[in-house]
Amino acid sequence: MVRKYVSIIGSGPSGFYTAHHLLQNVKVPLEVTIWERLPVPFGLSRYGVAPDHPNVKNCEDTFTDTVKDVMGKDSIHKFNFIGNCEVGKDIELSKLLSKQDAVVLSYGCATDRKLGIPGENDTTGVFTSRQFVNWYNGHPDFALHPKFMDFDWKSVKNVGIIGNGNVALDLARLLLSNNVDSIWGRTDISPIALNKLREAPIENVKLIARRDFPNSKFTNKELREMWLLEEYGVRGHIDSKFFTPEEWEMKEQVRSFRRCVDLCSEYVKPFELRSAKYKKLPQPTNGIFTKNWELDYLKTPLEILKDETTGYIKSLKLCNNTLTKANKVIPHEEETMSYEVDLLITSLGYKGSAMAGFEELGVQFDNAKVTNKQGRVLNTEGNEIPRLYTSGWIGRGASGVILATMTNAFKVADNILKDLNVLPTREGTSLPSLQNIRYTTWDDAQKILKFEQEKGEQVSKPREKLLTIEEMLQVVNK
Ligand code: FAD
Repeated sequence: MVRKYVSIIGSGPSGFYTAHHLLQNVKVPLEVTIWERLPVPFGLSRYGVAPDHPNVKNCEDTFTDTVKDVMGKDSIHKFNFIGNCEVGKDIELSKLLSKQDAVVLSYGCATDRKLGIPGENDTTGVFTSRQFVNWYNGHPDFALHPKFMDFDWKSVKNVGIIGNGNVALDLARLLLSNNVDSIWGRTDISPIALNKLREAPIENVKLIARRDFPNSKFTNKELREMWLLEEYGVRGHIDSKFFTPEEWEMKEQVRSFRRCVDLCSEYVKPFELRSAKYKKLPQPTNGIFTKNWELDYLKTPLEILKDETTGYIKSLKLCNNTLTKANKVIPHEEETMSYEVDLLITSLGYKGSAMAGFEELGVQFDNAKVTNKQGRVLNTEGNEIPRLYTSGWIGRGASGVILATMTNAFKVADNILKDLNVLPTREGTSLPSLQNIRYTTWDDAQKILKFEQEKGEQVSKPREKLLTIEEMLQVVNK
């Protein structure tokens, strides 16, 4: 039987779930090659998901099992991992497409949405959530970046986070529990980042949103985790002018929102006044809360002000907003206020960018994602580009949990399978030359992951990540 060849660009959840579904359901022998910019696989599962949520990373075991099955001696399929190789830079996309039966763009979203206000790009102590998350998760692009390493963490008391999605809450949780070893000490967080964060005498974290409470982006699980920080002397607040359930026609609201309101209604009360269910939480030993967080609403950031001598952030200037009936934000620039902050993180979401080589192929790239019809990539005229597909965040936009990413990847894989049945088999399919590229194979990547795991075991952690590509390649060369 003729073998088919599929290349997938990106080894995050979307790339691996696409591979998994193809290999599970294809009727002919298949050779899947996953290309990855970094020497190791798993994308945001490794470098995005919070280190204190290890169960979310269980998908990595599924991916590893998939590869084990394909590499087993009874398998008719083949699998290659080519890490430390960036498609678009080290390998031309058009060349790859000309040599494979199908190519899937699953390379995720690795740029930032920005506020676009003065001071955002040139003030010390202003970070995007992507930079910050990459830093504490040990991503080689940021793990040792001077922006973090040279920053004076000892000066950080007041933190502003713009946005209130789950990533913003991940950041707030970490910053407020920076000294709680029972949470972080046994995780795979970068030890360098954790040591720096421990230096910060953080007292207040404000999560600032443009819209109102009912438009909050967090989910209940992550919000509950914030309230549960009380045990460590961390108290949450919502100003009563923003938390007005009596105005929200609660009976008509969806269940998750009703639960969210119940949760907040109880936790904003002093401990003694809460119903029994919410009194189980251990309170700080001396009854004193040393840190605070606050959900803040209806504000537009206008300007970041810095100390002209040091370049460090001093404050954030904002104005009040109102919302129209259609939920449109109306900023009132005459009603301004200023928050003193020592650290500001903009958590506005990730954004996709076009890959080098898109122009040559005519790939349509709009709204920070690859334009596609059920995973089939469209050109600028709106026609499908044969054999080119996309799955995950770069095709759907930068939102959605791993489960949503999986569902999308499976649907795209089904369409690839349908097309593989009807498209003529390509003559001369092969991988482009890898000469002069110091790429890693699956076995190399496993060697790195095993090394990290063994290093972690010595200090009772799931792993201790290597923070630079050089270190990773040294382990491979051993
Ligand atoms: P990615 O995971 O980003 O994978 C893309 C991969 O492509 C990366 O490995 C990248 O290095 C590689 N790549 C990029 N460019 C190239 C190139 N040119 N050549 C080769 N390779 C390339 N979901 C949950 O279910 N639970 C959570 O707790 C959770 N927490 C999250 C926390 C954060 C901070 C973020 C940002 C997301 C979180 N998510 C969570 C969502 C989840 O991470 C995404 O649904 C999922 O990772 C998207 O998968 P993806 O494969 O599309 O992108």
